[in-house]
Amino acid sequence: LFLTLEGIDGCGKTTQAARLTDALEAAGCDVVRLREPGGTDISEKIRGLLLDPSNTEMCPECELLLYEASRAQLVRQVISPALERGATVVCDRFFDSTLAYQEAARGLSSQVVRTANGLGSCGVTPHRTVVLDLDPALAFSRATAGGADRLEAEGLAFQQRVRDGYLRLVGEEPERVRLVDATGTPDEVYSAILDALADVLPA
Ligand code: C5P
Ligand code: MG
Repeated sequence: LFLTLEGIDGCGKTTQAARLTDALEAAGCDVVRLREPGGTDISEKIRGLLLDPSNTEMCPECELLLYEASRAQLVRQVISPALERGATVVCDRFFDSTLAYQEAARGLSSQVVRTANGLGSCGVTPHRTVVLDLDPALAFSRATAGGADRLEAEGLAFQQRVRDGYLRLVGEEPERVRLVDATGTPDEVYSAILDALADVLPA
């Protein structure tokens, strides 16, 4: 089972992915928790390049291809083998981030991004994707130091475009992509995530 969590910076993905993983493990599941970009030695090195604030001159095409390079390595090295042995994979971001950030927010063409996503994901699609939806201004006020830096770097208008990109995906693929309101307490959000996963989680 392949589950992904998505949403703008500071929406609580990492916290909820950890919670979900702990609960599934406590229930006896074999769970692999990952984050994108990252999750393999090579992918973490690419993450370093992508998130290095001194790389201000990086063009959108370079950014897109680095995300896809990091993703392909993660899929081939970790995600596919885990799924093949029957594990549950919980990933903090996957190809929907590229549709929200590089297409909706950065403005790369839909055709280019979708083709690149096909290559980067090696054809692997999440069974269920939960989008944690939050007003960027609220996310900003909540964000930890690291997250706040990134929010500041791109600004609220950029985060709003990312959010709109996610909302569009929910409309396009309502069976796979589910929206969860992330304004509540961590307990409330977690319970809404469980509802959104109820039909795919093992009983
Ligand atoms: O917090 P997280 O580990 O998700 O940080 C990854 C960062 O990379 C995010 O802050 C986001 O702004 C950025 N990102 C991006 N395009 C993607 C995925 C992430 O710009 N496709
Ligand atoms: Mg995070």
